[in-house]
Amino acid sequence: MELFAVPDLPEIREGEDLAAAIRDRVDLRPDDVVCVASTVVSKAEGRTFDLDDFPPSERARGIASRLEAISGEEKDPRFAQAVLEESDELLLEAPFLLTATRFGHVGVNAGIDRSNVPAGDLLLLPEDPTESAERIREGLPVDRVIVTDTCGRPFRHGQRGVAVGWAGMHASRDWRGETDRDGRELGVTVENVVDELAAAANLLAGEGDGGTPVVVVRDFEWGAHGGSDEHFRAVEGDFVRQALQGWEFDG
Ligand code: GDP
Ligand code: MN
Ligand code: MN
Repeated sequence: MELFAVPDLPEIREGEDLAAAIRDRVDLRPDDVVCVASTVVSKAEGRTFDLDDFPPSERARGIASRLEAISGEEKDPRFAQAVLEESDELLLEAPFLLTATRFGHVGVNAGIDRSNVPAGDLLLLPEDPTESAERIREGLPVDRVIVTDTCGRPFRHGQRGVAVGWAGMHASRDWRGETDRDGRELGVTVENVVDELAAAANLLAGEGDGGTPVVVVRDFEWGAHGGSDEHFRAVEGDFVRQALQGWEFDG
């Protein structure tokens, strides 16, 4: 397979027809997978806000002052308020804000970005990135679209691209029931393809001023595998997340 970035995309503003912007700049094939950075999806959807849009609650003030004491850096309670409003559940309040968004994605600061946002202070993730992926897909001559974000992981240093929404494809390739080279049946392997493609696309998109938020994956073949659409784990059945519920930062 081959990946390439869509060239010459402009600064994306609220109301921009992203699909049209992509269509105008690249000859797509029906089996291409189009990966779009959530940053530009959010900008097009008008998810840019000012800090003043989030008058801080008592709780947000408390969180911000605790984070300020821990880090020794100034923390804006309005930012904490924005994170609270974007979140369904707080997994950690300290030493950083780790939350689950309403659509199920767990990330630091609810995925709110403060880089590549010229129009305001804050860029929130799309409200429902899978719905966004569907909408972009409708405007493109392709079957498959993935909305990505850059995100950290527990247990490992560094960030990488992950899928926050997807359309026209299963999230995962299900290897269960297939055999390895010794003829042993695979019992648990469900390969999260949308995350893998998002990570590959993110390699090309970059994190800085590259101006390349859209990456086309060409000639990726799913193969003869089943599919699964499970992506975000629910709390029930997520034992690591459950373990966090009983943990308290004491620094
Ligand atoms: P995120 O991973 O979705 O949070 O997005 P990033 O902020 O890491 O940006 C990913 C890529 O998109 C980088 O190459 C940025 O330079 C680029 N980018 C961000 N906003 C825009 C925009 O409005 N227009 C263009 N052309 N590129 C953008
Ligand atoms: Mn981001
Ligand atoms: Mn990024």
